[in-house]
Amino acid sequence: MSTYRFHILGGAAAFGLLHLGAQHIVPGYLSHSWTVLAGFLAIAMLGSIFPDIDVKSNMQKIFIATMVIALPLAYAMQKYYVLAALIAISIGLVIIRHRGLTHRAWFLIAFPLLFGCYLSHRYPADTELIYSACLFFSAGGLSHLVMDFGISRFFRKKRP
Ligand SMILES: [Zn+2]
Repeated sequence: MSTYRFHILGGAAAFGLLHLGAQHIVPGYLSHSWTVLAGFLAIAMLGSIFPDIDVKSNMQKIFIATMVIALPLAYAMQKYYVLAALIAISIGLVIIRHRGLTHRAWFLIAFPLLFGCYLSHRYPADTELIYSACLFFSAGGLSHLVMDFGISRFFRKKRP
């Protein structure tokens, strides 16, 4: 199995754990429609492959395809601060080394949180939904770290 599929599976598992936990801890969690829950699953899966954006991967292909659409769109809509942010992120990705910043737990929590802060500021009515999405993204991202570092370490220990 490719590492890409392996990580997606990990993201789905992270979603499953969070989904089960949230049912007991977060009141009204199950009142979300199936489409919202499916969205959370997709976000957790995206989060699970996000860290490998720093290396030639399917995630990088998704990112480049998104930028090809998003950059001219931001320019056409005169959203210059969005354009500047996208360019900064693109340059950042070229600079960072593999298993660097995007493979740090704090980054995988802080990055979606920062994004969530911005979005909830713009769409205050959807604050709960936005932060839930951030949580699922982070959970997916952290599952990636567990698989990259945890499992390989586990196998190394088993070797004589
Ligand atoms: Zn990785």
